[in-house]
Amino acid sequence: MKQPTLGNPQETIAVLQKYNFVFQKKFGQNFLIDPHVLDKIIRAAGIDKNDCVLEIGPGIGTMTQHLACEARRVIAVEIDRALIPILEDTLDGYDNVRIINEDILKTDIAKLAEEENGGQPLKVVANLPYYITTPIIMGLFENHVPLKSITVMVQKEVADRMQAGPGGKDYGALSLAVQYYAKPYIAANVPPNCFMPRPKVGSAVIRLERYEHPPVAVENEKLMFRIIRASFNQRRKTLANGLKNSAELNFSKEEIEAAIAKLDKGASVRGEALNLEEFAKLSNILNKIK
Ligand code: SAM
Repeated sequence: MKQPTLGNPQETIAVLQKYNFVFQKKFGQNFLIDPHVLDKIIRAAGIDKNDCVLEIGPGIGTMTQHLACEARRVIAVEIDRALIPILEDTLDGYDNVRIINEDILKTDIAKLAEEENGGQPLKVVANLPYYITTPIIMGLFENHVPLKSITVMVQKEVADRMQAGPGGKDYGALSLAVQYYAKPYIAANVPPNCFMPRPKVGSAVIRLERYEHPPVAVENEKLMFRIIRASFNQRRKTLANGLKNSAELNFSKEEIEAAIAKLDKGASVRGEALNLEEFAKLSNILNKIK
C-alpha cells in the first residue's frame, strides 16, 4: 500500500492548482490540511484491517488515503463531479478504495454494506459537509443501515448538542435522537485553521457508537420522537402546553395531564428536564391510549 501523500497545506494547494479546482460553497467544502487531526479522527474511529469504512465526502481524497492504509476496504461517496478525476489521481495505487459519485442522502447504503461487507456493519468516518449533518446522521440511524460506529467532524455546537444531557441549553431533540441510537463521545476540538478554506465556526470530532439495542424500551418510536419534537418546539412552555399545542399529536388535555402526572415531576415540568428514559415512559403511557 502506498503511503499517504496528502494531509498538509502544500500538497493540498498543489492538487487544487493542478486541477484548477474551484471550491463550491453549496457543498460545504472545507478540506482538512492538518496531519494531527487526520490521525485523531482515524484513531477515534478505531479502524483496523477487518473494517469496511464508508467515507462521506472524500473531497480530494486526503482522509481516504489514510483510511485506505488502515482499513480492509473504503467506500468513498462524493457528490461533486469535479472531484472525481482528482480522486482517481490521488487514490491511484490504493486498490482497496471504491469511489462513488453520488449524493449520500440518496445512496442505498444497506446495499453497499451487502456488496462490500457481506451485509456486516460498516464504520462511517467523515469530515462532514456541515449543511447536512443532521439529515446524514439521522438518515443513517433511522434507516437502520448496518453500522458499528460513526466518527465524524461536525460543527462544535452540533457536537455539544449531540452529547448534552437534560437541563442545559444544548439539550434538545437532536441530543435525544442521537442518544437513543448511540453513545456519543467528543474525541477532539478542531480550530478553523486546520481546514482550507477556513470555516467560520469551530469544529469537533465526535464518535457515535451504535447500540445493538436501544438503551430504553419504547413501544412506538414514532410517537416518542413526535413527543420529543413537540416538547422542544416551544422550549419556554411547560411540557403539558407543548404537547397540547402540537399539530403532530392528538391527545386531550386530560390525557396529557394524567400521563405527565405519572412521571412524578410536577404538572409544570418542562420538556428539557426529562431524560430519555422519562420520554420513553411518557410515550409508552400515551401509546396505550391511541
Ligand atoms: N473529506 C475531505 C477532507 O476532509 O478534506 C472533504 C470534507 S468537506 C468538509 C465535505 C465533502 O463532502 C466535500 O468534498 C463535498 O463536496 C462533499 N459533499 C457535500 N455534500 C455531499 C453529499 N450530499 N453527498 C456526498 N458528498 C457530499
